[in-house]
Amino acid sequence: MLRRFFSYYAPYKGLFALDFGCAVLAGLLELGFPIAVKFFVDDLLPGQHWGWIAATAAALLVIYVFNTGLMAVVNYWGHALGISIETDMRRQAFDHIQKLSFRYFDNNRTGQLITHVTKDLEEVGEIAHHGPEDLFIAIMTFIGAFILMFSVNWKLAMMTTIIVPFMTWLVSRYGARMTTNWRKLFRQVGDFNTRVQESVGGIRVVKAFANEDYERQLFAANNEGYKTTKLSAYAYMTASITMSYLSTRLVQLMVMIFGTYLVIQGELTYGGFVGFLLLVNVFFRPIDKITSVIESYPKGIAGFSRFTSLIDTAPDIADKPDAREVEHLTGAIEYRDVAFSYDGKSKVFEHLNLKINAGETIAFVGASGAGKTTLCSLLPRFYEVDAGSIMIDGIDIRDMTQASLRNQIGLVQQDVFLFGSTIRENIAYGRLGATDEEIIEALRRAALDEFILSLPEGLDTPVGERGVKLSGGQKQRLAIARIFLKDPPILILDEATSALDSATEYAIQQALGELSRGRTSLVVAHRLATIRNADRIVVMGPDGILEEGSHTVLIAKRGAYARLHEAQFGAVA
Ligand code: ADP
Ligand code: MG
Repeated sequence: MLRRFFSYYAPYKGLFALDFGCAVLAGLLELGFPIAVKFFVDDLLPGQHWGWIAATAAALLVIYVFNTGLMAVVNYWGHALGISIETDMRRQAFDHIQKLSFRYFDNNRTGQLITHVTKDLEEVGEIAHHGPEDLFIAIMTFIGAFILMFSVNWKLAMMTTIIVPFMTWLVSRYGARMTTNWRKLFRQVGDFNTRVQESVGGIRVVKAFANEDYERQLFAANNEGYKTTKLSAYAYMTASITMSYLSTRLVQLMVMIFGTYLVIQGELTYGGFVGFLLLVNVFFRPIDKITSVIESYPKGIAGFSRFTSLIDTAPDIADKPDAREVEHLTGAIEYRDVAFSYDGKSKVFEHLNLKINAGETIAFVGASGAGKTTLCSLLPRFYEVDAGSIMIDGIDIRDMTQASLRNQIGLVQQDVFLFGSTIRENIAYGRLGATDEEIIEALRRAALDEFILSLPEGLDTPVGERGVKLSGGQKQRLAIARIFLKDPPILILDEATSALDSATEYAIQQALGELSRGRTSLVVAHRLATIRNADRIVVMGPDGILEEGSHTVLIAKRGAYARLHEAQFGAVA
């Protein structure tokens, strides 16, 4: 994991070297100061060499200014390094989320994903900057101070080392616990992000059921859980800080007492004594930084491990290395002996065979849950078949790149998703970079141009979150305009008009009719009136396809379709 973490420094070697070099130099200069004091007290003070004293003071001034400069570099450029790494990881996390397939999103909550790209990486950024540098400087000052202390008086130096085993114990005891704790905390942040996202996203349902109190309770439970975890983190931190503070002061006191004894015995000079006490402070500095060891390191580790677990989640659908870019398909589709299940256990269908000619309009009907939507989702490869294959123009869809395959398919569903931006942006989503003329032409074909152009802001009208400012019919027309702009050879209309009233449905059917002209169209509908004119009707049942044929043929057959028809329209005369 460490090697992997450091691989993110690779693009910033220069910056890292600068930051690290300055930090090390600053650390060394800190070490020199106690030695200068010893020299001052022992050698310069008794002889009253004023020239030397002035020269030493001047030298110290230069060193201080230089050191300040070093620290400024470390502060700014070190943070620049950290934020650069954080930005890279965030981009990678977002890119990876874009690559994941539907199965992942079916099983993970949006709030957690938001936390992956926000909170987790913030902590990693902090450690990317301070982590290696602080650790190295801590070790360096620790060893450096010890060598200098040893050179001043080895007996006193030995005495201070009794702190080392204690501190090792403290860090190992609390470090691992804190990592677990922070991981838990990040998950909880994800949980309450999920709650906020769902109660706001579903605010209409919340209010319609007057369940604000219930939502408040759910949120409060998450919020309290977060508090509990954080409090236990602070308890660990307080315990370790208290123990380390007390133990270092005790050792300092012992050094003072024993040092005084050594000075009286003549084994230690006054300057040596003062210098030693200052060195002890330098020696303890990394120990006093224990907070960062038990707070930011475990936090960074927890954040980084959440990050790696996200980017190590391989998308279950990926392009083959030699996948083809397809273009201008005619849209002849074949499902060949297809089996599929969402969970690997209960099959939605098995041994499903279906041939759809280019340009044909084929309708799917059947009970809810029969697998009509699933059948449609397999075509753009939103999910992978478990067995069999799906071919378009004789090419297995697994041999195409996902992007080029999906560019050949237009999908209109019952619930239209619109982005909270403007009408223009929502339509141009069909083909990025489309001109206003093209957008208006698409609107015209969806019979929405008059309405849009009559709005004071026209194409710049914001549609509201998920399109709440538009009616169901208008949203559906926007979705249709988007496909006109995209102009794919294959069309999937999955209950595109089912949510609309019959007058609106009738009006939109006309636009859909125009949309499907010259394209292979897969139409799912539960109102049979809308599909009567399809070239072929496929009736889906619990085990796959029950029967297929034209309206007249199926009615004459007096099978499942005839019964469905009877249920909707009464017995056929
Ligand atoms: P239809 O569109 O004919 O009403 P679907 O294709 O949506 O039926 O659903 C077929 C079956 O698959 C149903 O039993 C449904 O519960 C299940 N199903 C649909 N989508 C998913 C999903 N994303 N994850 C797991 N099961 C699903
Ligand atoms: Mg469906």
